[in-house]
This record gives sequence, C-alpha cells and structure tokens, in this order.
Amino acid sequence: MRILVTGGAGFLGSHLCDRLVQNGHDVVCLDNFFTGNKANLTGLLGHPRFELVRHDVIDPFKYEVDRIFNLACPASPPHYQYNPIKTTKTSVMGAINCLGLAKRVKARVFQASTSEVYGDPAVHPQPESYWGNVNPIGRRSCYDEGKRCAETLFFDYHRENKVDIRVVRIFNTYGPRMHPNDGRVVSNFIVQALRGEDLTVYGNGAQTRSFCYVDDMIEGFVRMMEQTETVGPVNLGNPGEFTMLGLAEAVLKLTRSKSKIVHQPLPVDDPRQRRPDIALARKVLKWQPKVPLTEGLKRTIAYFRKTL
Ligand code: NAD
Ligand code: UDP
Repeated sequence: MRILVTGGAGFLGSHLCDRLVQNGHDVVCLDNFFTGNKANLTGLLGHPRFELVRHDVIDPFKYEVDRIFNLACPASPPHYQYNPIKTTKTSVMGAINCLGLAKRVKARVFQASTSEVYGDPAVHPQPESYWGNVNPIGRRSCYDEGKRCAETLFFDYHRENKVDIRVVRIFNTYGPRMHPNDGRVVSNFIVQALRGEDLTVYGNGAQTRSFCYVDDMIEGFVRMMEQTETVGPVNLGNPGEFTMLGLAEAVLKLTRSKSKIVHQPLPVDDPRQRRPDIALARKVLKWQPKVPLTEGLKRTIAYFRKTL
C-alpha cells in the first residue's frame, strides 16, 4: 500500500515509518520539523520506498494514498505550550486536511488522539466511554481541546461522508528517539540521571502515569489500522501505573546515578492520575503491551547513553 504519515519525523512517527517500510509499504512522511528531525529517519533516507516531504499540515496537501496516519502535533507540554495557537491549528486544521484528502482519495485515515482528552480524570482507570474532565481555557487546553475537536471532526466526517476512520487514544509512551529536551518525564529523568544533574520531580511526585514502550504502541497502531471491527476510539497504553517519585527512583537505580531528587512546583492542571482501561484493545485488536517498564527503561537508557 501507499501510506502517508504526518508527523513522521517525530518520536512515534519515525518508528511507525520504520515499521511500515519493513512491512513492504511505500511511505510518504510529511513533517514541518517543529519537534521532529531527519536524524530519526537515518535508516530510511534514500530507501526506494520512502519519501520525506517538508510541509505543514495546516496547509492542504494531496497524495494518492491508501492509508493516512495523522500524527503531526507536538506532544510534550513545553512544546505544545510554546505556541498554543499553532498547536490548536495543527490539531484542527491538520485533521480537516487529512480527512478532506481521505474523502477525496478514499483512503482509510487514522488519528493519533490522546489520553489528554480525559483531562484530570474523575474516573479511574479511564475507559473509552468516559467523557473527561478538561479545562477549556487553561495552559493545556490548546492540546486537549485541539485533540478533542479533531476527534469530533473524525466522527463527523465518518457519519456525514462515510470516511473510513480509525481513532486511538494514546497514553504516555516512551523509548528511543524521544527528544532529549522535550520536557517529558521519562526523557527528563534519564537525561538528568546520565548527566549527574538533579532529577526534577514536580509537586510531591504522588501523581501517577502509565508508561507504554514504543514498540508495543506501534504494534497497536498497525493492528488498529488494519482491523475492521471498530473505528474507535480505542485506548492504547500500558495499564501499569507508577508515581513520578517511583519512576525517578527506578531511573536512578537503573542508571546507577548519584543524582539527587529535587522537588519543583507542579504545573497548572497537571492530571493527578492516569491509567488506561485497555479491555477494548485486548478484545478487538488482541493487543496488550509486552515490554515491562524496567525493560523499556533499560533500552531507553542505552539509547540516551549513546546519543548524549
Ligand atoms: P513528537 O513531537 O516527537 O512528534 C510530532 C511530529 O509532528 C514532529 O515530527 C513534528 O515536527 C511534527 N509536527 C508538529 N506540528 C506539525 C505541523 N503543523 N505540520 C507538520 N508536522 C508537524 O511527538 P510524538 O510523541 O511522536 O507524538 C506523535 C503523535 O502522537 C502526536 O499527535 C501526539 O499528540 C500523539 N500522542 C503521543 C503521546 C506520547 O506519549 N508520545 C501520547 C498521546 C498522544
Ligand atoms: N514531571 C516531573 N518532572 C519532569 C517532567 C514531568 O515530575 O521533569 C511530571 C509531570 O508533572 C506529570 C508527569 O511527570 O505529572 C508526566 O509529565 P509529561 O510531561 O511526561 O506528560 P503528561 O503530563 O502530558 O502526561
């Protein structure tokens, strides 16, 4: 198949491009390099079945493709808050442009949505049926509401125009090729530990997250795209739940670092807890994560040791 991946030069997008080319597909990767970079695609540049296009999803684009994976959007809080209006535009106009193209060329289109649609969740763990608890005017809203509006557009194009959609809600994912300065917790702690700097735990560190290793996530993407039982939304993530203090201690142990843990102010609207209910993914995708946190952290630490 011919497959378009928007945001393909980023962390998840580059692993997805690798996987799709390996599976024998022709891949067009479209990216504006805001948070992604060509180094993530080193193994693919020059490959006869891979093309890289510098383009912004806010502006329309046309390709004759069978599948579209829409991943373009900065994902880490410091990056998506850097230019919040642009973040909303990327989510909303990027979705409209992908859906318009899918309608025109009859491609199946996949949306990388997020656990952030649940906001600071009052229901725990979060099933897909939960509508969320999102602040519409806060610092995180450009991302949360942008992604929620993108989901709305996906389902309206599906109902009104019969566009063949697939929507997944991704929970915190980590692994090699995370940007070392993107501010997300796993990369922050590993980079700090390897550099001998203090590990910055925000607040008291009792807030929880569930961390999925990138290879498991990409397997979930591919399964979701190719099944025909549901259009989604389907949660993808690892149901193991950890406090940020626990994560910091695990990173210190695995890196054998002498760094100390320090506490910094908790960002506004930081969700207190997050854990996916993945019953639907287990049932329709026959999918569940395989890589435990300790193993995934070891692989990610090895990557950062090499690249820093
Ligand atoms: P990333 O920042 O590494 O990748 C995003 C990519 O999109 C980058 O290559 C960036 O340059 C590109 N991009 C940003 N704005 C663009 C625009 N206007 N036009 C074209 N390209 C643009 O982030 P990631 O972790 O790989 O996330 C990929 C997708 O998955 C995002 O949509 C994100 O919201 C979603 N997601 C990720 C996570 C996670 O934990 N990694 C969790 C939930 C959702
Ligand atoms: N966090 C932290 N120290 C850091 C970076 C993040 O304690 O150096 C916390 C952050 O406050 C949040 C959690 O780790 O509670 C996950 O943050 P991240 O930015 O990775 O993702 P998100 O908040 O979007 O889940």
